[in-house]
Amino acid sequence: MTITKKAAGKAVKKTTTKKTVGTVKIKKTATRKNAPGAASAAEAQNIPVRVQNAPPKFKTVSSPVAAPRAKTGGRKPKMAIVSLTSCEGCQFALLDLGEKFLDFASSVEMVDFRLIEEEEDPGTKLDLVLVEGNPVTEDNLKLLQSVRKRSRVLAALGNCAAMGGIPEIKNYHEGANTIKHVYKYIQGISNPEIKEIDNFVKVDFYFPGCPINGEEFLRYAPELLLGNIPTIPDSPVCVECKKAGNRCLLLDKKPCFGPMILGGCDAVCPTARMTCQGCRGLRPGANIKAMRATLKTMMTDEEFENTTEIYGLRDDVEESLRTTN
Ligand code: SF4
Ligand code: SF4
Ligand code: SF4
Repeated sequence: MTITKKAAGKAVKKTTTKKTVGTVKIKKTATRKNAPGAASAAEAQNIPVRVQNAPPKFKTVSSPVAAPRAKTGGRKPKMAIVSLTSCEGCQFALLDLGEKFLDFASSVEMVDFRLIEEEEDPGTKLDLVLVEGNPVTEDNLKLLQSVRKRSRVLAALGNCAAMGGIPEIKNYHEGANTIKHVYKYIQGISNPEIKEIDNFVKVDFYFPGCPINGEEFLRYAPELLLGNIPTIPDSPVCVECKKAGNRCLLLDKKPCFGPMILGGCDAVCPTARMTCQGCRGLRPGANIKAMRATLKTMMTDEEFENTTEIYGLRDDVEESLRTTN
């Protein structure tokens, strides 16, 4: 597939409105469970499956994929961007890069990029596949497992694929009843309880954010194409917030999650005087217990829990609090 300005423009015209979530009034319910079928399918393929409630995934260790360094023998690396069930906002974040994305795309052989053009999947071996969204349908699961098998490196593209994202909110709320209404007219739902992709396949790298940060994509994607797994610096949103010269929202008793959240988004929310709600996930070195204690003075337990559900943060927070008690 050749990505031209015309093709990219065509995709932009298809832009859908991204649903934003503000304050969500939600009841407390049970936490997620692993799907036995899903786990056994992955185990059968000898794929390490992420355990639910595992610690934050933005670790500061290198993956074994990093060695040996990939060789493409002089050819352009082959890459695909696939979308499972999602709003496609992360793919649009790539197109928003404009010329910069076209320059990047010209350095690879783009085998599949659903937003631009739906093509028959020829089963090509890939150097890198980016996966956006959640595996909700049987077809989603098949596609996910297929691209894992034939790609050297698989990266989650955005908060939905990495952490369950906004769709995961419904896991916490009267499961069956909610699912009945959400998927009323859709057939073939095999994973109605949202689980992020590393419950099914091994994931080598996570692009955080809802949506992802395009500049961050341009920084790390070339490394991934070479088979190297980069490490996102363990720096909180607060660092970028301070650089922007913002007055800290915590000083005004506004419950901002910034100190425990992985930076890299240019602190867009606090710069717009909105609290950070953690779409980039917990940072590895965060002191969640101390942060929770600070936030307790600004929000109720229910408000805290509800906010952690917006971007799939709740499981990681609960696990972290459990293990540090
Ligand atoms: S992470 Fe956000 S922008 Fe990306 S697909 Fe999910 S909801 Fe859309
Ligand atoms: S407003 Fe939020 S992100 Fe900014 S310094 Fe304060 S806690 Fe950190
Ligand atoms: S400030 Fe927080 S919620 Fe906003 S984009 Fe950054 S990580 Fe996401």
